[in-house]
Amino acid sequence: MSLTQCPNCSRRCFTDAAYCPNCFQTFRPGLLQAFAVAEEKAFGVKTNALFLSLFMIWLAVLLFFQLQPH
Ligand SMILES: [Zn+2]
Repeated sequence: MSLTQCPNCSRRCFTDAAYCPNCFQTFRPGLLQAFAVAEEKAFGVKTNALFLSLFMIWLAVLLFFQLQPH
C-alpha cells in the first residue's frame, strides 16, 4: 500500500483505494497504481537526489560524532 495523488482533486489517497476519501471520485482497479508509477517516474530522480543528500548529511554528522574523543 502506498500513497499517491488523486487525479481528480490532487489530494493524497491510497493507491488501492476504491474511491477518493476527499472528493469521493471512484477509481477503476489499478488506475491509481498506474498513476502512482507515472508520478514515481516523473519525480523519482528529484526524490533520489534529495534522499541522497539527506543521507550524505546524516553520514557526515555520524562521522563527526564518531571522530570525537570520548
Ligand atoms: Zn479526490
